[in-house]
Amino acid sequence: MIIIMRPDATEEQIGQVTDRLKRSGFGVHLSKGAERTVIGAIGDRSAIQLETLQMLPGVSEIVPIRKPYKLVSREFRKEDTVVELPGGVRIGAGQKLAIMAGPCSVEGEKEFLEAAAAVKKAGANVLRGGAFKPRTSPYAFQGLGEQGLKFMAEARRQTGLPFVTEVMDTRDVELVARYADMLQVGARNMANFNLLKEVGRAKKPILLKRGPGSTVQEWLMSAEYILSEGNKQVVLCERGIRTFETITRNTVDINAVPVVKKLTHLPVIVDPSHGTGEWDLVPAIARAAVAAGADGLMIEVHPRPDEAKSDGAQSLKPETFAGLMAELKLVAKAVGRPL
Ligand code: PEP
Ligand code: MN
Repeated sequence: MIIIMRPDATEEQIGQVTDRLKRSGFGVHLSKGAERTVIGAIGDRSAIQLETLQMLPGVSEIVPIRKPYKLVSREFRKEDTVVELPGGVRIGAGQKLAIMAGPCSVEGEKEFLEAAAAVKKAGANVLRGGAFKPRTSPYAFQGLGEQGLKFMAEARRQTGLPFVTEVMDTRDVELVARYADMLQVGARNMANFNLLKEVGRAKKPILLKRGPGSTVQEWLMSAEYILSEGNKQVVLCERGIRTFETITRNTVDINAVPVVKKLTHLPVIVDPSHGTGEWDLVPAIARAAVAAGADGLMIEVHPRPDEAKSDGAQSLKPETFAGLMAELKLVAKAVGRPL
């Protein structure tokens, strides 16, 4: 349930309510909005008498949250969450679009620096690259591990752009968080609840991709895991789901963008690269995502896609990416969104 405090409620009154909830065994989460403070109380509602809670000074209203996800729900927090990365990148709430771009995998220092410089020149504001790769085959390139993180850190130094990279294992969260500006939980790990709890305790923003076979509600429950551990800096990423259609790698659920915006306060971005699996389809879906109200995009870009160690077929060449950025500016302008 949520306890909505009166706009004039004092800190002391808020403290009194949270103490009472904690004594009754509730997990307590505060959301301080511009107009009012909302207290999220997660636990067994029969453990407290709502009438007595209602009588505490400063309490305006007690509202049950019927949805299984609580902290990520719009009921809990009306205002859009803004997720902040170093370099002044602010994702969500109508801010400038976040364009995360780079190769699927970090393949070497020279290669990554080249890609990073190219995407920066074209206007990306976040670098992407995988050092720990979730590959379908155990014989495929698995990523450079910590070495790859070091190369990305050097690219950040040279370009001034923050970077996002995937973490696949609870044992690597501390390591990856030491280097990266944002941790990606990949589609295959969306329902790895131990990993979700671990990144929920990390002090870095999280990019949570939607599982290819997951409903929006399951995806939001995964986000709830992260928030329930105290990390409120979560960006959702629609990257295509598996449907009966096999002509493309995945099917981008464009509905998910406005649906998620309605149900949660978290920012949502779209990954048209994994969503389509084919580079020449990427621009159309990228434009559609921005038109649908996404807060950003994740796009794979490789200087020589035919030499890529992973996902070359869906990677844009830097010049194609630059052309797409010019088109996106027009779409963003049409929907009143800075880029
Ligand atoms: C990736 O971003 O390279 C990746 C593996 O994405 P997903 O988890 O969406 O497949
Ligand atoms: Mn990839």
